[in-house]
Amino acid sequence: MRADEPLHRRSSLRIGGSAWRFVDLGSREDVIGLLAAVGPDWRRLVWVGLGSNTLFPDEGIDGVVVRMSGELADWHSAESQVTVGAGAVNAHLVRGLLREGWIGAEFLSLIPGTFGGAVALNAGTRERELSEILERCEIARVNEEQGVWHVGTFPASELNLSYRHAGLKDGDVVLSGVVKVERGDVEEAKSRVRQDKDRRNRTQPYRLASVGSTFANPQGDYAGRLIEAVGLKGHRVGGAQISELHANFFINAGDATAADFIALMALARHRVRERFGVELRPEVRFVGFDGWAQLIEQEKSLR
Ligand SMILES: Cc1cc2nc3c(=O)[nH]c(=O)nc-3n(C[C@H](O)[C@H](O)[C@H](O)COP(=O)(O)OP(=O)(O)OC[C@H]3O[C@@H](n4cnc5c(N)ncnc54)[C@H](O)[C@@H]3O)c2cc1C
Repeated sequence: MRADEPLHRRSSLRIGGSAWRFVDLGSREDVIGLLAAVGPDWRRLVWVGLGSNTLFPDEGIDGVVVRMSGELADWHSAESQVTVGAGAVNAHLVRGLLREGWIGAEFLSLIPGTFGGAVALNAGTRERELSEILERCEIARVNEEQGVWHVGTFPASELNLSYRHAGLKDGDVVLSGVVKVERGDVEEAKSRVRQDKDRRNRTQPYRLASVGSTFANPQGDYAGRLIEAVGLKGHRVGGAQISELHANFFINAGDATAADFIALMALARHRVRERFGVELRPEVRFVGFDGWAQLIEQEKSLR
Protein backbone atom coordinates (compact mmCIF):
# COMPACT_ATOMS: atom_id res chain seq x y z
CA MET A 1 0.00 0.00 0.00
CA ARG A 2 1.49 3.34 -1.05
CA ALA A 3 0.62 6.72 0.46
CA ASP A 4 0.11 9.95 -1.54
CA GLU A 5 0.37 8.23 -4.90
CA PRO A 6 0.43 10.78 -7.79
CA LEU A 7 -2.55 9.80 -9.93
CA HIS A 8 -1.29 11.52 -13.07
CA ARG A 9 1.05 8.53 -13.36
CA ARG A 10 -1.97 6.20 -13.38
CA SER A 11 -3.86 7.84 -16.21
CA SER A 12 -3.09 7.95 -19.93
CA LEU A 13 -4.09 11.64 -19.78
CA ARG A 14 -1.36 12.33 -17.20
CA ILE A 15 -3.78 14.40 -15.08
CA GLY A 16 -4.70 14.10 -11.41
CA GLY A 17 -3.67 14.93 -7.85
CA SER A 18 -2.65 12.28 -5.32
CA ALA A 19 -4.52 9.33 -3.87
CA TRP A 20 -4.57 8.94 -0.09
CA ARG A 21 -3.57 5.30 -0.67
CA PHE A 22 -2.80 3.21 -3.76
CA VAL A 23 -2.70 -0.57 -3.68
CA ASP A 24 -1.98 -3.24 -6.24
CA LEU A 25 -3.80 -6.49 -5.39
CA GLY A 26 -2.42 -9.74 -6.77
CA SER A 27 -5.04 -12.32 -5.82
CA ARG A 28 -8.76 -12.90 -5.50
CA GLU A 29 -8.30 -13.44 -1.76
CA ASP A 30 -6.65 -10.02 -1.46
CA VAL A 31 -9.66 -8.38 -3.12
CA ILE A 32 -12.17 -10.25 -1.00
CA GLY A 33 -10.13 -9.48 2.15
CA LEU A 34 -10.08 -5.75 1.31
CA LEU A 35 -13.82 -5.68 0.60
CA ALA A 36 -14.58 -7.43 3.88
CA ALA A 37 -12.30 -5.00 5.72
CA VAL A 38 -13.92 -1.83 4.31
CA GLY A 39 -17.52 -3.10 4.71
CA PRO A 40 -19.89 -0.11 4.65
CA ASP A 41 -17.04 2.28 3.76
CA TRP A 42 -16.78 0.77 0.28
CA ARG A 43 -17.27 4.18 -1.35
CA ARG A 44 -13.70 4.99 -0.33
CA LEU A 45 -12.48 2.36 -2.81
CA VAL A 46 -11.81 3.34 -6.41
CA TRP A 47 -11.04 0.55 -8.90
CA VAL A 48 -8.85 1.26 -11.88
CA GLY A 49 -7.19 -0.60 -14.72
CA LEU A 50 -4.65 1.24 -16.86
CA GLY A 51 -6.48 4.55 -16.47
CA SER A 52 -6.86 4.83 -20.24
CA ASN A 53 -10.41 6.14 -20.00
CA THR A 54 -10.13 7.98 -16.73
CA LEU A 55 -10.04 11.63 -15.65
CA PHE A 56 -8.87 11.97 -12.06
CA PRO A 57 -9.56 15.18 -10.07
CA ASP A 58 -6.88 17.86 -9.62
CA GLU A 59 -7.39 17.76 -5.86
CA GLY A 60 -6.71 14.02 -5.71
CA ILE A 61 -8.74 11.28 -4.07
CA ASP A 62 -9.24 10.90 -0.35
CA GLY A 63 -9.62 7.15 -0.63
CA VAL A 64 -7.93 3.96 -1.75
CA VAL A 65 -7.26 3.52 -5.44
CA VAL A 66 -7.01 -0.17 -6.27
CA ARG A 67 -5.52 -1.92 -9.26
CA MET A 68 -5.37 -5.66 -10.00
CA SER A 69 -2.29 -7.58 -11.08
CA GLY A 70 -0.61 -10.97 -10.43
CA GLU A 71 -3.05 -13.86 -10.74
CA LEU A 72 -5.84 -11.32 -11.32
CA ALA A 73 -4.10 -10.43 -14.58
CA ASP A 74 -3.84 -14.06 -15.77
CA TRP A 75 -5.95 -15.88 -18.29
CA HIS A 76 -6.41 -19.53 -19.27
CA SER A 77 -8.33 -21.27 -22.00
CA ALA A 78 -10.45 -24.38 -21.79
CA GLU A 79 -11.25 -25.09 -25.42
CA SER A 80 -12.95 -22.03 -26.87
CA GLN A 81 -13.83 -20.55 -23.46
CA VAL A 82 -11.17 -18.24 -22.04
CA THR A 83 -11.29 -17.10 -18.43
CA VAL A 84 -9.62 -13.69 -18.10
CA GLY A 85 -8.68 -11.87 -14.89
CA ALA A 86 -9.90 -8.27 -14.64
CA GLY A 87 -6.33 -6.96 -14.40
CA ALA A 88 -5.19 -8.61 -17.66
CA VAL A 89 -3.86 -6.08 -20.18
CA ASN A 90 -5.83 -6.43 -23.42
CA ALA A 91 -2.79 -6.38 -25.71
CA HIS A 92 -1.05 -9.14 -23.68
CA LEU A 93 -4.21 -11.25 -23.72
CA VAL A 94 -4.61 -11.00 -27.49
CA ARG A 95 -0.94 -11.76 -28.10
CA GLY A 96 -1.21 -14.88 -25.89
CA LEU A 97 -4.43 -16.04 -27.54
CA LEU A 98 -2.96 -15.71 -31.03
CA ARG A 99 0.13 -17.63 -29.88
CA GLU A 100 -2.17 -20.49 -28.84
CA GLY A 101 -4.08 -20.32 -32.14
CA TRP A 102 -7.26 -18.59 -30.91
CA ILE A 103 -8.84 -15.73 -32.85
CA GLY A 104 -11.86 -13.49 -32.28
CA ALA A 105 -10.59 -11.10 -29.60
CA GLU A 106 -8.11 -9.12 -31.75
CA PHE A 107 -10.13 -5.89 -31.57
CA LEU A 108 -9.13 -5.69 -27.88
CA SER A 109 -5.48 -5.21 -28.82
CA LEU A 110 -6.39 -1.73 -30.13
CA ILE A 111 -7.88 -0.75 -26.78
CA PRO A 112 -5.07 0.22 -24.39
CA GLY A 113 -6.61 -0.95 -21.12
CA THR A 114 -7.37 -3.95 -18.93
CA PHE A 115 -10.08 -6.56 -19.24
CA GLY A 116 -11.91 -5.15 -16.17
CA GLY A 117 -11.95 -1.70 -17.78
CA ALA A 118 -13.22 -3.25 -21.03
CA VAL A 119 -16.13 -4.90 -19.18
CA ALA A 120 -16.99 -1.70 -17.26
CA LEU A 121 -17.27 0.21 -20.56
CA ASN A 122 -18.25 -2.54 -22.99
CA ALA A 123 -15.16 -1.42 -24.88
CA GLY A 124 -15.05 -1.90 -28.61
CA THR A 125 -13.95 -0.72 -32.00
CA ARG A 126 -15.93 -0.13 -35.15
CA GLU A 127 -15.46 -3.84 -35.97
CA ARG A 128 -16.51 -5.44 -32.68
CA GLU A 129 -17.34 -4.80 -29.05
CA LEU A 130 -16.80 -6.89 -25.95
CA SER A 131 -20.48 -7.85 -25.61
CA GLU A 132 -20.10 -9.91 -28.81
CA ILE A 133 -17.63 -12.32 -27.21
CA LEU A 134 -18.38 -12.03 -23.48
CA GLU A 135 -20.19 -15.03 -21.99
CA ARG A 136 -20.23 -14.23 -18.27
CA CYS A 137 -18.49 -12.26 -15.53
CA GLU A 138 -17.54 -12.85 -11.95
CA ILE A 139 -18.46 -9.74 -9.97
CA ALA A 140 -18.22 -8.77 -6.29
CA ARG A 141 -21.38 -6.83 -5.40
CA VAL A 142 -22.22 -5.09 -2.14
CA ASN A 143 -25.50 -5.24 -0.29
CA GLU A 144 -25.69 -1.49 0.40
CA GLU A 145 -27.78 -1.75 3.56
CA GLN A 146 -25.65 -4.37 5.28
CA GLY A 147 -22.28 -3.47 3.72
CA VAL A 148 -21.80 -7.17 2.99
CA TRP A 149 -20.16 -8.39 -0.24
CA HIS A 150 -21.14 -11.38 -2.37
CA VAL A 151 -19.26 -12.76 -5.32
CA GLY A 152 -21.54 -13.96 -8.11
CA THR A 153 -21.37 -15.09 -11.70
CA PHE A 154 -23.51 -13.01 -14.05
CA PRO A 155 -24.30 -14.01 -17.63
CA ALA A 156 -23.41 -11.21 -20.08
CA SER A 157 -27.13 -10.94 -20.93
CA GLU A 158 -27.77 -9.68 -17.36
CA LEU A 159 -25.20 -6.89 -17.62
CA ASN A 160 -27.24 -4.72 -20.04
CA LEU A 161 -24.24 -4.13 -22.25
CA SER A 162 -24.74 -1.50 -24.94
CA TYR A 163 -22.54 0.96 -26.82
CA ARG A 164 -19.75 1.92 -24.33
CA HIS A 165 -22.01 1.09 -21.42
CA ALA A 166 -22.35 -1.75 -18.92
CA GLY A 167 -25.16 -1.91 -16.40
CA LEU A 168 -22.85 -2.42 -13.41
CA LYS A 169 -24.18 -1.33 -10.03
CA ASP A 170 -22.43 1.30 -7.89
CA GLY A 171 -19.43 -0.31 -6.23
CA ASP A 172 -19.42 -3.47 -8.42
CA VAL A 173 -15.97 -4.99 -8.76
CA VAL A 174 -15.28 -7.08 -11.86
CA LEU A 175 -13.01 -9.97 -10.88
CA SER A 176 -12.90 -11.96 -14.11
CA GLY A 177 -14.84 -12.85 -17.21
CA VAL A 178 -15.20 -15.62 -19.75
CA VAL A 179 -14.96 -14.87 -23.47
CA LYS A 180 -15.48 -17.18 -26.41
CA VAL A 181 -12.88 -17.44 -29.13
CA GLU A 182 -12.40 -19.78 -32.08
CA ARG A 183 -9.79 -21.58 -34.13
CA GLY A 184 -8.89 -19.73 -37.31
CA ASP A 185 -6.24 -18.20 -39.51
CA VAL A 186 -3.83 -16.63 -37.00
CA GLU A 187 -1.57 -15.06 -39.65
CA GLU A 188 -4.52 -13.35 -41.26
CA ALA A 189 -5.72 -12.13 -37.84
CA LYS A 190 -2.25 -10.71 -37.07
CA SER A 191 -2.14 -8.93 -40.38
CA ARG A 192 -5.58 -7.38 -39.71
CA VAL A 193 -4.32 -6.12 -36.32
CA ARG A 194 -1.26 -4.57 -38.01
CA GLN A 195 -3.45 -2.86 -40.60
CA ASP A 196 -5.85 -1.53 -37.94
CA LYS A 197 -2.91 -0.20 -35.91
CA ASP A 198 -1.43 1.51 -38.98
CA ARG A 199 -4.80 3.08 -39.79
CA ARG A 200 -5.14 4.36 -36.21
CA ASN A 201 -1.64 5.78 -36.20
CA ARG A 202 -2.50 7.72 -39.36
CA THR A 203 -5.91 9.00 -38.26
CA GLN A 204 -5.64 9.38 -34.45
CA PRO A 205 -3.03 10.94 -32.12
CA TYR A 206 -2.52 7.46 -30.71
CA ARG A 207 0.76 8.19 -28.94
CA LEU A 208 -0.21 11.47 -27.26
CA ALA A 209 -1.71 11.75 -23.76
CA SER A 210 -5.47 11.21 -24.19
CA VAL A 211 -8.31 8.87 -23.27
CA GLY A 212 -9.07 8.05 -26.89
CA SER A 213 -12.58 9.23 -27.71
CA THR A 214 -13.68 11.90 -25.25
CA PHE A 215 -17.35 11.64 -26.23
CA ALA A 216 -19.38 8.66 -27.38
CA ASN A 217 -20.61 8.92 -30.96
CA PRO A 218 -24.25 10.02 -31.12
CA GLN A 219 -26.62 7.70 -32.98
CA GLY A 220 -25.88 7.83 -36.72
CA ASP A 221 -23.08 10.41 -36.47
CA TYR A 222 -19.57 10.96 -35.16
CA ALA A 223 -18.64 13.18 -32.22
CA GLY A 224 -15.37 14.07 -34.01
CA ARG A 225 -17.22 15.25 -37.11
CA LEU A 226 -19.55 17.48 -35.05
CA ILE A 227 -16.73 19.02 -32.99
CA GLU A 228 -14.70 19.69 -36.14
CA ALA A 229 -17.77 21.23 -37.81
CA VAL A 230 -18.12 23.80 -35.01
CA GLY A 231 -14.54 24.89 -35.64
CA LEU A 232 -12.89 23.53 -32.51
CA LYS A 233 -10.14 21.37 -34.03
CA GLY A 234 -6.88 22.46 -32.41
CA HIS A 235 -8.70 24.66 -29.85
CA ARG A 236 -6.99 24.91 -26.47
CA VAL A 237 -8.11 25.65 -22.91
CA GLY A 238 -5.09 25.89 -20.61
CA GLY A 239 -3.07 22.75 -21.27
CA ALA A 240 -5.96 20.76 -22.77
CA GLN A 241 -6.28 20.73 -26.54
CA ILE A 242 -8.56 19.24 -29.16
CA SER A 243 -6.36 17.24 -31.49
CA GLU A 244 -5.64 18.63 -34.96
CA LEU A 245 -5.73 15.07 -36.26
CA HIS A 246 -9.02 13.85 -34.75
CA ALA A 247 -11.46 16.24 -33.07
CA ASN A 248 -12.84 13.67 -30.60
CA PHE A 249 -9.36 13.17 -29.12
CA PHE A 250 -8.73 15.78 -26.40
CA ILE A 251 -5.08 15.74 -25.44
CA ASN A 252 -2.96 16.90 -22.57
CA ALA A 253 -0.61 19.19 -24.43
CA GLY A 254 1.78 19.45 -21.49
CA ASP A 255 0.42 20.83 -18.27
CA ALA A 256 -3.35 20.28 -18.48
CA THR A 257 -5.47 20.12 -15.35
CA ALA A 258 -8.77 18.27 -14.91
CA ALA A 259 -10.41 21.73 -14.79
CA ASP A 260 -8.94 22.58 -18.24
CA PHE A 261 -10.13 19.28 -19.63
CA ILE A 262 -13.67 19.74 -18.30
CA ALA A 263 -13.81 23.35 -19.55
CA LEU A 264 -12.84 22.15 -23.03
CA MET A 265 -15.46 19.40 -22.90
CA ALA A 266 -18.09 21.93 -21.82
CA LEU A 267 -17.21 24.22 -24.71
CA ALA A 268 -17.46 21.37 -27.24
CA ARG A 269 -20.80 20.20 -25.82
CA HIS A 270 -22.13 23.77 -25.81
CA ARG A 271 -21.14 24.54 -29.41
CA VAL A 272 -22.40 21.21 -30.76
CA ARG A 273 -25.71 21.56 -28.93
CA GLU A 274 -26.17 25.15 -30.18
CA ARG A 275 -25.43 24.31 -33.80
CA PHE A 276 -26.80 20.77 -34.20
CA GLY A 277 -29.11 20.25 -31.21
CA VAL A 278 -27.10 17.15 -30.30
CA GLU A 279 -26.08 16.43 -26.71
CA LEU A 280 -22.68 14.78 -26.61
CA ARG A 281 -22.36 12.08 -23.94
CA PRO A 282 -18.92 11.77 -22.28
CA GLU A 283 -17.16 8.47 -22.94
CA VAL A 284 -14.34 9.41 -20.53
CA ARG A 285 -15.06 8.39 -16.91
CA PHE A 286 -14.76 10.92 -14.09
CA VAL A 287 -13.21 8.76 -11.41
CA GLY A 288 -13.19 9.77 -7.74
CA PHE A 289 -15.18 13.01 -8.20
CA ASP A 290 -18.38 14.37 -9.66
CA GLY A 291 -16.95 15.61 -12.95
CA TRP A 292 -20.40 15.47 -14.50
CA ALA A 293 -21.70 18.21 -12.13
CA GLN A 294 -18.64 20.36 -12.94
CA LEU A 295 -19.21 19.87 -16.66
CA ILE A 296 -22.86 20.97 -16.41
CA GLU A 297 -21.86 24.03 -14.34
CA GLN A 298 -19.23 25.04 -16.90
CA GLU A 299 -21.71 24.62 -19.70
CA LYS A 300 -24.27 26.82 -17.96
CA SER A 301 -21.70 29.60 -17.71
CA LEU A 302 -21.34 29.54 -21.53
CA ARG A 303 -25.04 30.19 -22.22
C1 LIG B 1 -5.17 6.08 -27.50
C2 LIG B 1 -6.44 5.46 -26.96
C3 LIG B 1 -7.29 4.76 -27.81
C4 LIG B 1 -8.49 4.20 -27.32
N1 LIG B 1 -9.30 3.49 -28.17
C5 LIG B 1 -10.43 2.92 -27.69
C6 LIG B 1 -11.29 2.14 -28.54
O1 LIG B 1 -11.04 1.96 -29.72
N2 LIG B 1 -12.41 1.60 -28.00
C7 LIG B 1 -12.74 1.77 -26.69
O2 LIG B 1 -13.77 1.22 -26.25
N3 LIG B 1 -11.94 2.49 -25.86
C8 LIG B 1 -10.80 3.06 -26.32
N4 LIG B 1 -10.01 3.80 -25.48
C9 LIG B 1 -10.43 4.02 -24.07
C10 LIG B 1 -9.92 2.96 -23.09
O3 LIG B 1 -8.75 2.36 -23.55
C11 LIG B 1 -10.98 1.89 -22.85
O4 LIG B 1 -12.17 2.47 -22.36
C12 LIG B 1 -10.50 0.81 -21.87
O5 LIG B 1 -11.46 -0.23 -21.86
C13 LIG B 1 -10.30 1.32 -20.45
O6 LIG B 1 -9.64 0.30 -19.72
P1 LIG B 1 -8.76 0.64 -18.43
O7 LIG B 1 -8.32 -0.64 -17.84
O8 LIG B 1 -7.69 1.60 -18.77
O9 LIG B 1 -9.88 1.31 -17.51
P2 LIG B 1 -9.71 2.59 -16.57
O10 LIG B 1 -9.59 3.82 -17.40
O11 LIG B 1 -8.68 2.34 -15.55
O12 LIG B 1 -11.15 2.58 -15.87
C14 LIG B 1 -12.30 2.89 -16.64
C15 LIG B 1 -13.54 2.64 -15.78
O13 LIG B 1 -13.64 1.25 -15.50
C16 LIG B 1 -13.71 1.04 -14.09
N5 LIG B 1 -13.00 -0.21 -13.79
C17 LIG B 1 -11.75 -0.58 -14.19
N6 LIG B 1 -11.47 -1.81 -13.74
C18 LIG B 1 -12.55 -2.24 -13.03
C19 LIG B 1 -12.87 -3.43 -12.31
N7 LIG B 1 -12.02 -4.46 -12.24
N8 LIG B 1 -14.07 -3.50 -11.72
C20 LIG B 1 -14.96 -2.48 -11.79
N9 LIG B 1 -14.73 -1.34 -12.46
C21 LIG B 1 -13.53 -1.22 -13.07
C22 LIG B 1 -13.04 2.26 -13.47
O14 LIG B 1 -13.49 2.51 -12.14
C23 LIG B 1 -13.49 3.36 -14.44
O15 LIG B 1 -14.80 3.80 -14.13
C24 LIG B 1 -8.81 4.35 -25.94
C25 LIG B 1 -7.94 5.05 -25.08
C26 LIG B 1 -6.77 5.59 -25.58
C27 LIG B 1 -5.83 6.30 -24.63
